[in-house]
Amino acid sequence: MKIGKAHCPELDIDLTIYQLRDWHFDEDEYNDINADNLTFLCQDINCRAELSDVNATNPKPKQTPHFRTLTNETHSCGIEDDDKLTIPGTDEPKRGHDKAYKENEFPDEFLLKRKPSKRRGTPEDKPEQPIIIENPNSSKPKNDSDSRQAPNRTSDLEHIVECFLGHQDNPETLKHKYLTIDKQRLSYRRFFVPVGYYDGREELRIYYGQLKTINVYGEDKDQRFVLKFKAWPTLEDKKHPLSIYLSKNTINSYRKRKLFKTQMLNFLEHPEQDVLCFFFGYPELVDKNYKNKEGTYKRLEATVTNLDHLVLCFN
Ligand SMILES: [Zn+2]
Repeated sequence: MKIGKAHCPELDIDLTIYQLRDWHFDEDEYNDINADNLTFLCQDINCRAELSDVNATNPKPKQTPHFRTLTNETHSCGIEDDDKLTIPGTDEPKRGHDKAYKENEFPDEFLLKRKPSKRRGTPEDKPEQPIIIENPNSSKPKNDSDSRQAPNRTSDLEHIVECFLGHQDNPETLKHKYLTIDKQRLSYRRFFVPVGYYDGREELRIYYGQLKTINVYGEDKDQRFVLKFKAWPTLEDKKHPLSIYLSKNTINSYRKRKLFKTQMLNFLEHPEQDVLCFFFGYPELVDKNYKNKEGTYKRLEATVTNLDHLVLCFN
């Protein structure tokens, strides 16, 4: 059985796999939680089967991260049963594969600013992800009919991207799931726009496209990166190259800078890889003319100053 959420007995909370990934890679706020020592159980209080995490520490997962029942344990509490197709002990199928785990818990809202974390152990430290409000008169186990879910808000773009990627072959699902970002409420399908379809409007969306190259400038702690996309958006019948410039300040102030640099350097070493880049914002035309053999052209640049608004997905 594969599930997106689990109960952590050490912290006495239910958490998503994305929360766990965040703890593993965070170098600033959560560095007092030793995520390696945490264990995971089924969320159902009457079940509590032991779970393991898949891809919680992988900087470039090719499968959607999740929790799964330990191979030597049977698990049939009915919380979710979508694992009929997987043979225990075999490799996890790649993202997009029929038998691959799909993220089914679609967040309703993407928070552009993370709530700063408090000291470990305080109630505020509990994840901002789904809060289950239980009926105090009920002693039955939690399930959809006797518990109500508060809005499922997240500041983790990776979670939202995995929902989109897992359901790309099912546009109806993406049409009927809604997402709010900064007062805009749109379906998942409308929020995600391929960079090649950018039409010049200043609309905040989650743009995505394959990266062509990454250029790196500077050494060690002073590294800056320029991400260049394969697809060029067409504006006024002309195609324009699109890139994202990431300053050293943006990178060095990011909580997960080591993860980000690992991903960048991995792509530089293996440029043949398919790397999809997702970012929240919109591209803008740079007010400057550049020259090539065919004449002059303009470039598009997207501004990303918070790396929580950018996700790289390796395939
Ligand atoms: Zn269970």
